[in-house]
Amino acid sequence: MTSTATIPPSVSLGRMLHPRFTVTGAPGAQQLVPANLRAAVLTKEPAGQAFVTGVASLLRGFATEGTPSTLASLELPTTDQGWRDALIDASIEDTTKRAGRPLLPAEAADVTRQAEAIALEAEGVTSKSGDVVLAPHVVQSLLTTFATGTASPAAANAARVFTHELEHTISPDPTLASVTNLRWLEEGGSELLAHTRLATSLRELGLPAMKPTGIAYSDSVLAVAHLASLTTPGSSMRELLQGRALTDVPAELATRIAARHQLGAAERTLLTQQFDAFDGSKASAEVIAAFVAERAAVARGAAAVTPS
Ligand SMILES: [Zn+2]
Repeated sequence: MTSTATIPPSVSLGRMLHPRFTVTGAPGAQQLVPANLRAAVLTKEPAGQAFVTGVASLLRGFATEGTPSTLASLELPTTDQGWRDALIDASIEDTTKRAGRPLLPAEAADVTRQAEAIALEAEGVTSKSGDVVLAPHVVQSLLTTFATGTASPAAANAARVFTHELEHTISPDPTLASVTNLRWLEEGGSELLAHTRLATSLRELGLPAMKPTGIAYSDSVLAVAHLASLTTPGSSMRELLQGRALTDVPAELATRIAARHQLGAAERTLLTQQFDAFDGSKASAEVIAAFVAERAAVARGAAAVTPS
């Protein structure tokens, strides 16, 4: 092989052995359609039927809330090999699209190594084109619960992971790759919404009410929750985080925080600039909270001495 040889995306044997679905229909009327034999077989089983019906209902729920999902396909690996292969294929496809040309062997090897590392840690992934892949333990928990209707913390966690990945398919940003400084917002926002929406998601999926246990909130979740709490109480967190492109959320957050705390245009601009340097840590959210408190106190002081 010469150094100019390129690696085409492939569908491995590992991926042929687990269910894959494509999604058809307009937002709010989407259906899962089997994309391989294993998916066709699954939909003949009661658990598989309940699954495709439940997912269609969940997608309808997102659309009804004004934040439709752009889920394009769903892959349910049942083995570590299938999961690993799916992640490698998805990463190669994403990177190829971004590069605008087929990858060189060295680039493909790099992408493969990164995907293998992700396979060891992640519970689910979503590509920029709306392809969702769930980890085998998540798939097993979900399908078992669809088959038995039995509530368990593992099944609740699986539903949370699935909802989290679907949140990534809402208001996707085509430039996400170039705005890695907003990853905290995409990840923290998706996780926060997956938690707050879990009971609704379970009902739409047709699963029993249940709660995950032992969930440790990441810093990015706490940071997003902290920032959202600085905006007007009672306003929709879903509308704020998912009702616009990801890149427009920081400016909207700054506008809402400024409105709530009666800050002027200059402070709003300063807030927006602070979001640019934001790293998603709890400490950086506290810096912003302190800034808001200080400026709000100054604004109140100014108001107090201004004769009416
Ligand atoms: Zn995520």
